[in-house]
Amino acid sequence: MVESRTLITRDQIAYSLDKDHPCALEIDSGTTLTVETWDARSGTIQRDEDLLDHPHPVGSNPATGPVAIRNAEPGDGLCVEILDIRLADQGFLAVKKGEGLLAHMANEYATRMVRVEGETVHFGGIRFPARPMVGVIGTAPAGAGVSTGFAGPHGGNMDNRYIAVGSRVYLPVQVSGALLALGDVHAAMGDGEITFIGLEICAEVTVKVELLKGEGTKRPLIETADFWVTTAEGEELAQTVRSAAEEMVELMQKRLGLSFEEAYMLMSAAVDVQICQCCEPGEFPVTTRAVISKEIMP
Ligand code: CA
Ligand code: CA
Repeated sequence: MVESRTLITRDQIAYSLDKDHPCALEIDSGTTLTVETWDARSGTIQRDEDLLDHPHPVGSNPATGPVAIRNAEPGDGLCVEILDIRLADQGFLAVKKGEGLLAHMANEYATRMVRVEGETVHFGGIRFPARPMVGVIGTAPAGAGVSTGFAGPHGGNMDNRYIAVGSRVYLPVQVSGALLALGDVHAAMGDGEITFIGLEICAEVTVKVELLKGEGTKRPLIETADFWVTTAEGEELAQTVRSAAEEMVELMQKRLGLSFEEAYMLMSAAVDVQICQCCEPGEFPVTTRAVISKEIMP
């Protein structure tokens, strides 16, 4: 049997994850879905002369969707497996005056269009491998909607480069239908997303969406071929690293049957805490992760 593939185009976007957004598409659990995504500026940056010196007319970080999953109810979980990320052939990098980790040095606006050929990025004459990832992915929160600039227990703008081809993103279902949306693909992004901008690019992301009935996580959790990854977000780096570690120590106790003390000790030997996004001062809060090898925690 040929598996049918469902498509959602990039004219169906939202700038927040919100239970009040009308769903753009309804699918069954098990559907393979291709999602067209805009770059973070909805295609308005096309030349080096296009600067980020004015507010975006509509908003930034559009997420395509939301997609309702039939029979999804609060307390369930979603497993979104990233099967493929097809990048456009051009994206952009940019500097915004007075923003990012080096805001004190960033005295000018600048944009560079960046060519992506196959798996290679061409930054002027400098070439390096693309590392495609999904910056924004989440479900609708039970309460007020959350801008796609922010992350939370529902997912959102996690900017976690483990959200890449081959990974499974587990998300909580907080409202009927879950209302999944994703966008903000990067052809490459260094940990920290230091200027506050990755290599922003349009893409087609193919995912398989499974409903996990009654098995919802409270927060996003990422599984790759080799790692388990917890996530956290907050205003302040140290507290956010601590939150990612708290998530991980609980997961280790549960999956490995360890006491808190045992899991805490093992963490200190085997878990990496890492920065996803840390680009203050700027518009976006800090996001972090904790990572453990499946050789230690299958
Ligand atoms: Ca982002
Ligand atoms: Ca981005």
